[in-house]
Amino acid sequence: LPPEERLGFAVVGLGELALHQVLPAFGRAKRCRLAALVSGDADKARAVASQYGIGRENLYDYKAYDRLADDPAVDVVYIILPNSMHLEFTSRAAAAGKHVLCEKPMATSAADCEAMIAACEKAKKQLMIAYRCQYEPHHREAIRLARSGELGPLRLIEATNGQNQGPPGQWRHRKALAGGGSLPDVGIYCLNAARYITGEEPSEVSAQVLTDSSDPRFAEVEDRIAFQLKFPSGVLADCRSYYSAHESRRCRVMAERGWIDMDPAFSYQGLRMKVARVERGAEHVSEVRLPSPDQFAAEMDHMAERAARGERPHTPGEEGLQDQRIIEAIYRAAREGRPVPL
Ligand code: NDP
Repeated sequence: LPPEERLGFAVVGLGELALHQVLPAFGRAKRCRLAALVSGDADKARAVASQYGIGRENLYDYKAYDRLADDPAVDVVYIILPNSMHLEFTSRAAAAGKHVLCEKPMATSAADCEAMIAACEKAKKQLMIAYRCQYEPHHREAIRLARSGELGPLRLIEATNGQNQGPPGQWRHRKALAGGGSLPDVGIYCLNAARYITGEEPSEVSAQVLTDSSDPRFAEVEDRIAFQLKFPSGVLADCRSYYSAHESRRCRVMAERGWIDMDPAFSYQGLRMKVARVERGAEHVSEVRLPSPDQFAAEMDHMAERAARGERPHTPGEEGLQDQRIIEAIYRAAREGRPVPL
């Protein structure tokens, strides 16, 4: 689309993800353009604004944020703040008459997620949670193939997403800001994948946490967590996330007559996919080669397209709420040492 037809986005919070992934992605997007920046750091905001050609009149701090209501250049607000701030900044954006694209995890409690949905409904604005993998070709192919029946019924999903998350002192290690540790931050990709690959909602969860709380990073939030989801059709998803080992981001789906393997599965780029098919008793493994377009450009373009038409996005607030409800059940299962029905 030409610039004047693209939807204008305000990016809120100029941290790692915004600076290194989201802002550059506007250069690859087709339906949206960067229109404003919101930051608590005026010097950084000015420097970033001059780099991206954003005028002073389109720079806001967190207090002036509500004045976005009077900025006709902004249609969508993209919230890239610590998790516990998502509720406040979504509600204020909706009240200012803007659509909201909000980073995952949606919030730090199911109650906050519900309030975010209500705020956007009241303002008649769209709300999308930035589940980038759901807009990515390898994951879309995995969904298609898994649900097509070509490999027979699905039996097991194995998913792991983890990384070494240091140094101590960052907001991800503070429960009040993050809501939890590796589970809501990176384990959520495994949970969300198990749901979109099966197309089902889990009926029961079990979980185990292992955290060395003498490590200053883990005084408040969990490090390693394993969780299992039982789905009504009989699929068992076995998932893991962690904050204390070298990164690994993989997903494998086992079906009666084959498997789908993505390794890495949850990275920003370089995804690889293999599929095994059993035909007349012999296994054939092939590599599936697909393009790897910018995941952030793809999700922002989706939001722009749906918001322009006044339609619900593919990953609306309800998608984030459902993950948050399951995350709360996973923590309960770990705490109580027993399976929790959903
Ligand atoms: P950072 O800590 O790098 O950036 C967060 C930014 O939020 C800060 O730079 C700051 O921006 C602003 N901020 C406002 N108040 C605070 C506060 N009290 N403490 C810290 N920062 C504050 O975090 P990330 O960019 O890694 O993560 C931001 C969000 O994006 C999270 O919700 C995270 O889960 C999500 N995320 C999603 C990813 C994905 O793949 N979809 C990957 C990484 C993160 P300023 O200085 O401009 O005010």
